[in-house]
This record gives sequence, C-alpha cells and structure tokens, in this order.
Amino acid sequence: MSKFYEVRRRDGAARIGKLLLTGRNRVQTVQTPLMLQVESLREKIEVINAEDSNFDEVLSSEETWITSRGTVLLPEVHPLFTKVKEAIPSLFVDFFVLSFASCLLNSPRDFVRRIVDARNAIPPDVALWVPAIASAENAALLFFMGADIIDDTNAVIKGHQGIYLLEEGNVRLSELADLPCNCSICSSLSIEELRGKDAKERASLIAKHNTLVLDKEVKKVKERIIAGNLREYVELKVRASTFSTAVLRILDTEEEEYFERRTPVARNQRLEANTMESLKRVEVKRFANRVLERYEPPKRKILLILPCSAKKPYSESPSHAKFIEAIENYRGYIHELILTSPLGVVPRELEMVYPAAFYDIPVTGYWDAEEREWVSSCLRAYLKNNLRNYELIVAHLSGAYKEICGSVATDLGIEVVFTCENNEEVTSKEALKRLKRRIAELCVERKRLSGFEVKANMIKAMADYQFGISTGAELIARKEGERVKITGKFPSYKLLDSGILARIVPAYGLLALTVKGARRILDSISSYKVEIDDFVPKGSILAPGVVNAGEQIRENDEIVFFGVKAFGVGRAKMSGWEMEESRKGVAIQVREVVRV
Ligand SMILES: [Zn+2]
Repeated sequence: MSKFYEVRRRDGAARIGKLLLTGRNRVQTVQTPLMLQVESLREKIEVINAEDSNFDEVLSSEETWITSRGTVLLPEVHPLFTKVKEAIPSLFVDFFVLSFASCLLNSPRDFVRRIVDARNAIPPDVALWVPAIASAENAALLFFMGADIIDDTNAVIKGHQGIYLLEEGNVRLSELADLPCNCSICSSLSIEELRGKDAKERASLIAKHNTLVLDKEVKKVKERIIAGNLREYVELKVRASTFSTAVLRILDTEEEEYFERRTPVARNQRLEANTMESLKRVEVKRFANRVLERYEPPKRKILLILPCSAKKPYSESPSHAKFIEAIENYRGYIHELILTSPLGVVPRELEMVYPAAFYDIPVTGYWDAEEREWVSSCLRAYLKNNLRNYELIVAHLSGAYKEICGSVATDLGIEVVFTCENNEEVTSKEALKRLKRRIAELCVERKRLSGFEVKANMIKAMADYQFGISTGAELIARKEGERVKITGKFPSYKLLDSGILARIVPAYGLLALTVKGARRILDSISSYKVEIDDFVPKGSILAPGVVNAGEQIRENDEIVFFGVKAFGVGRAKMSGWEMEESRKGVAIQVREVVRV
C-alpha cells in the first residue's frame, strides 16, 4: 500500500508510475521506470583509488543512500524476514529496496527467484528498487520483470574500473580502438585524449558515459512500455548475453503464472513473434488454452483446415478470399480452422480476437523443430477434443503446414483429405479447382451460410472466449417477444434486440457489452464481475472503490460492475487481484452506468 506511488500504465509486469521523492530539502515528482543517480556515492568513489574495486564500505555507509519517506529495505537474509514479509501488505510505504541485490548476479535462477519473490511479496501499488546491479544490457529485463527503480551505482563503479558500458554489454577501455558512442562525453574527445587523462578524471568520464548509456536505456524502456511492446524489446536485448537469455527462458518456463496474472487479454498493438521465445509468450499460451477450454465449434459435416495469411484478419486477405470463394456454395457444411504459428489453430469465428488478428511472424517457409512441435500439439489437442463434431477432415495445405497436419493425422489414426499436391501453391488455380471439386463431391448438395449465421457465430464464439463457454449462446438467444438481429459490416458487428446488446471492437479484438447485454448473461459471467462501494461512478472507478473483483480479470477485460447504487459495464485497467490489493490507480474505465 502506498501513499505516494501510483501505477499509471502497465505492459505485463512492467509499469509506468508516478512517485513522489523526498530528498533532504525538497519534494520531487518522478516517473518510473526510474534511474536514480547515486551522486553521494560518486563523490565518495572519486576519493578512492580508481583501481580499488572494494566498495563494500561505501555501500554500507548510511549516507550513501538518500532514502525516501516510507522506504523499507527488504532484509531477506535476516532471520526475522518472514515476520516482516507477513507485515508487508499492511505497511504504508512507497517503495521497497531489494537488499543484497548484487548476489542476484550469481545465477540466472537467483536473479529470477529473488525479483519475482520480492514483487509477489509486496503490494502491486508499491515501487520496487533493485539497487546496484543495473547495466544497459540488463535494465530492460529488470523492468520487464517488475522492477520500477534502478540506479547508476554499477555503471559508476564500472567506470572506475575502466569498464566502458555498451547497450549490449561492456568492454574494457583498453580493448577499444575508438569510442563507439555519441553521448556528450564521447563526442567531446577522442579515445587517445581519454586515455591521456589522469586516472581520476578518466574514471569519472567513463562513469559519466556509463550513466548516460544506462539513462538512454531507461528512456527506451519507457517508450516500449507506452507502446505495449516491451516483450519484443526484451527478446531482442537478451541475445546480448547467455545470462540474460537464460533469465528469459527461466521466466517463460517457470514463472508463467506470474506473467499470466499481469498480462492484458487484449491490446491495440501487434504482437511480433520473431524469436523462439515468442512461442512461449503468455498471449500465445492463453490463446491456445482458450481455444480448447472456451470454444465450441458449430456442428458441421466437414472440418476444413486452411493455412494462415500475412494479412489479418485472415478473411480480408487475398488468399482467404479465394478459399472462401471456392467453398462458398457449401459453406453451410464446413467449419474452417486456420493452422498458424505461433498461435497453433484459429477457428474462423475467433479470427478477430487478440492476438489472432494482431500478430506477425517472419515467413520463410522454414519451420524449426520446436515451432512444428508446438503447432502440432495445438492441432492434435483440438482434434482430440472436437473430432466427434465432424464426419470428415479436409486440409487445403502445402509445405510444412501439410507435413504437420499429416503427422498429427497419423498420430491420431485419422484420415485427412488433402487438396494440394506437395509443394503446390495453395492459391494456384489447380489447387483451388481441386478444393472446389472435392468439396462439391463430399457435400453433394449446396448449402450456403446465411449472413446472420456467420455474424452470430462470431459473436457467440467471442463471448465464450472472453467470458467462458455458454455465455455466447445466452447472449444471442431469442428472448420472448424479441428478435435478435446483427447489423454492421465485417468486422464491426452490433448485436441488438430492442437496443444494442454488444458490439465487436476491432481495434482491441474484443466484444464490448452494453448494460442491456450484460443483464442477459449476468448469471454466467461471475468471474468477470466487480463489486464496487456505494457510489455511482463517472468516467472511471479507482482501485479503493472496488470491494471485490473476479480473480480471472486481466487488464483490458470487459467487465460488469455492480454496487448498492450502480450497475454498469466497462473495461478493466488492471487485474482483478490488483484492484483488490491497490489503494491507488484507475481500476475500471466505465462505458455505461445506470443507477439502481
Ligand atoms: Zn558515450
């Protein structure tokens, strides 16, 4: 619980926050991610022999750390720590300092364990300072994991050891042929001039360069959090060292829940899957899980498996327009499933949801073993779950897609009708003709899908995907005396009876409810309800106004709120657990509210 720290924006576990710092004589508002400049430490270091790397005495000096009001050091190694930990949630502090952080660098696993444990132990609306270990190489990773404050201690110490920080690591000044940097220090002198300075001045100049490089990195991270793509930047940055790469791999395999609790369900940016680590992203796993747990395919004679397209939503791509044209007269018998990396399988009805309509992958035709295995596992699981739904499986696939589908079919002992020859383009005239002919043979008579069916299936599937199975059917069910209809052009559909019930918001890939729509499905969306205090909210609901919130709620989830005086719908701006534990910050953006 904090008095002076407020999280304003999130990107997974990383946050942008506002912090009030009090120095000896002044109060200052600063933004996190923040790099503190340990000026007093620098002064002390300057009187120490530049080659002396033992700074323990300086670090342990009380004056070294200008602690802010309400700072608590986390004395994790102290025998009484468990007692402190129990008391933590009730303490009114603005930030915690992870003590002895330097031992985090002993192993990637310690690094993960101690930061994640610290973040889990302290309330979400309190900042976490990980002191004395930040470098330009690991800063993005630290913020990505949930640290809010770093400092330039390590950068300054490195400077005094003659070590020059680079964005991707560090190097001894003696090993450089030139200064590969344009900061104010490096552009003011040549490497020869720098080497010619006396030890004290040289150390101070390198330290300043190091601090500037670190500061630049903090600014970059801040931009990435605002853009909502810090993960992509971290995937790029960890390549700089085996240590950082190991940290990300451990986070992805062992701390899945930590990130799942903090990752938004939808965003209005694209997800770029450029590395093998992208396959392990929470967004990817969550989508794959929900296709299995929160999706019911419509009952159809044929399952048609299609390849993905670069353009999203798939329906708007030239290749899918051709597939749809080929099967149009028989679409009433067909259920379409799109095979893709890294999402696995995307049912046609879910092509608009995040991240199905929001991802990019490098397309080369080459799939490596891990990618094949992941996509195969998604297809295998889908078929196992839904095989009884279909009489026949047809696959219009070639290349790696065809190989994956073929091997899954063999595994499961099922027959698949392939409509493409090996290495034939799926959009070639011959392949499309073959698809059309095979489908006509298998279906015998024509049956088109009505426009209403296409739209209703999408709305139903999106409601199930967001709120859980069966909500979709309830939402579109015909009520006594009312006729449900759907208006709007793809994909901006609106569901109405006597008024609007829900609409698809393509910018986020979400289905947004109205109060009228929420009332229809109230009993089956208990996980997405938020109980508020006895007030009528306007604009937004702040965290202290929340009494109870569904545990499954994540940032950008569509939610229903209710209290003694009000009932309404809106979008979550933080996770449900965070709403309950925070005393500051916007919890819900209200869209519609009525007095009760
Ligand atoms: Zn520089």
